[in-house]
Amino acid sequence: MKMVVAPGRHGVVDTTPTTMFDDHGHRELELAAMVNAFNAVTEKLKVSHERLTDEVSRLRDRIHEKDLELERRARLAALGQMAAGVAHEVRNPLGSILLCADMLSKELENAPENKSLADQIVVAVRALDGIVGDVLAFAGPGTCRFQKVTLSEIMTDVVRLVAPRAVETGCRVRVDYRTCDTVVSADGAQIQRALLNLLFNAVDAANAGDVSVVITRINDEVQILISDTGDGIHDSIKERIFEPFFTTKDSGTGLGLAIVYRIVASHGGRVIVGDGPLGGAVFCVSLPAGQSSTES
Ligand code: ADP
Repeated sequence: MKMVVAPGRHGVVDTTPTTMFDDHGHRELELAAMVNAFNAVTEKLKVSHERLTDEVSRLRDRIHEKDLELERRARLAALGQMAAGVAHEVRNPLGSILLCADMLSKELENAPENKSLADQIVVAVRALDGIVGDVLAFAGPGTCRFQKVTLSEIMTDVVRLVAPRAVETGCRVRVDYRTCDTVVSADGAQIQRALLNLLFNAVDAANAGDVSVVITRINDEVQILISDTGDGIHDSIKERIFEPFFTTKDSGTGLGLAIVYRIVASHGGRVIVGDGPLGGAVFCVSLPAGQSSTES
């Protein structure tokens, strides 16, 4: 009798018997069974090795992403501290200029031409104060005062605040509550600021078009989707729009989305941008849902 026991492809042993008609046949059959078992184990090891290799490479990618995120946060924190220092220094003299310009404007009630100069100073200083406020907000949300807040109520306030700008540009803003359970654990003032920034951007982008807000709950998250009929965001800048001071607007500070990013991240949520259903951009803010009043 003759049995071929030779290494096959990928280290698998070929156990195909050619003849097995002699006295030691049963031994050879045992050997073949052992070799088959060996092959089966080898195959299993190969599969689990491949699975482990994939897992290691997936974990390595995740660590790399986390490293980049940490680096980005450290850079933002350093930039924020510097910006906050400058903003504090600038805010005090700005306050004095505003006070003086206001007084001057009142003094000049009877000299309309000169009064209008004082009024222009007041308007310009208010604009500067707004920018300083943005810088301070970007510098750090500070300590979050977490409470149970109802997003639908915050959104109602945000829409009210954005209404004058929408009326000015002829933009329609619609809010669709797909869930009545919009309770999150959050700092209401900060979330309001973040949503306001997104709504102002959407209204600016939509111009005389539409802005749609959809609030929905998906498992343990509440999602707010803000889409507009603007031109959308070109792929070449999508990566950069959350960077502080990145702007494509003539009078933009480039701090709005950096503030949104920071606030949402400090609430354990995330904000992503994409191509929206209305043809323009869509921003999706996800926040961990709190227990609603009916659950507690
Ligand atoms: P700013 O509004 O001062 O420019 P932001 O940080 O809020 O600063 O926005 C950064 C940039 O992202 C904007 O200049 C604009 O190019 C882009 N952007 C933000 N929101 C939208 C939107 N809804 N549609 C199109 N582009 C947008």
